[in-house]
Amino acid sequence: MPSPEFELIQRYFSRHDAAPEIVLGIGDDCALARVPAGMELAMTVDTMVEGVHFPRHTAPFDIGYKALAVNLSDLASMGARPAWFTLALTLPRNDPDWLAGFSEGLHALAGEHRIALVGGDTTRGPLSITIQAHGLVPAGEALLRRGARAGDLVAVSGTPGDAGLGLQLALGQRTTAVNADYLRARLDRPSPRVALGQRLRGIASACIDVSDGIAADLGHLLEASGVGADIELARLPLSEAFRQTFAGSPDWNLALTAGDDFELLFTVPPAREADLAALADVTVIGRIGADQGARFHLPQGGLMQLEQAGYDHFRSAP
Ligand code: ADP
Ligand code: MG
Repeated sequence: MPSPEFELIQRYFSRHDAAPEIVLGIGDDCALARVPAGMELAMTVDTMVEGVHFPRHTAPFDIGYKALAVNLSDLASMGARPAWFTLALTLPRNDPDWLAGFSEGLHALAGEHRIALVGGDTTRGPLSITIQAHGLVPAGEALLRRGARAGDLVAVSGTPGDAGLGLQLALGQRTTAVNADYLRARLDRPSPRVALGQRLRGIASACIDVSDGIAADLGHLLEASGVGADIELARLPLSEAFRQTFAGSPDWNLALTAGDDFELLFTVPPAREADLAALADVTVIGRIGADQGARFHLPQGGLMQLEQAGYDHFRSAP
């Protein structure tokens, strides 16, 4: 008789939609994959812990969806094409309803991006989900954090700040917002910018995905590149929901420091500026300069003072 653990894996996680590079998927001690000639393997792993990365009682579909989305976002930021992933799942109990919802969310996003689940590990304990995703990128063409140069444009995809507003709603820190359902969806089911990342190869000089807020992630890119940036807040592409919720006076601090948007933040050399026009849903927000650090210019003039730059698990309480 198959063990309950084996049955669980069979029922919820075994699919036969392996990537062309997969020689052997779920079922043996390891999966086997072939890296095509001329390609490099992009590797990333992220853990989501209940109560830390998502509020208790988040819908299982959304947990499965987001656990993969955050990894796909890392692949996107490097310009890689998603290829396959593994899943390490720690569960308090064998709950068929939870598992059905979780695996549905996971497979929904996996199917959309045609990334194959090729293995994993299943254990009992406090709810925690770890996904390792691998992507493929033409050798030497990956987008790195360190390529920004003075004079490059700074651009961002989507409308940053929405997930942060969604989190305030989810945590009950805010009771109303314009288009609250949309804002919650931005938090719970982010859209990793996989197609954009691949299009940015040969265009962007540096790229990072915005998981911890624009201020913090721009800071990482600037530090890696050894440059600074001037950002015009008037150019920040805020959503209608975000603007209307703040009725004319946007919460800049929230827009810059809230995480979870999973948009791409990237730089483009002036010679490549024309290529930007062909990219949908991308906005230039500033320019790279030689002076270190990020300066956020307020629409009414003057510089913005940030309250807190992004989330850090190991920062001690103030
Ligand atoms: P082992 O003890 O050799 O590590 P397991 O019994 O943990 O193997 O897993 C059996 C097979 O099922 C392996 O191929 C493993 O990759 C796969 N697997 C286990 N858990 C998961 C999961 N949550 N999702 C996908 N595949 C899984
Ligand atoms: Mg084994």
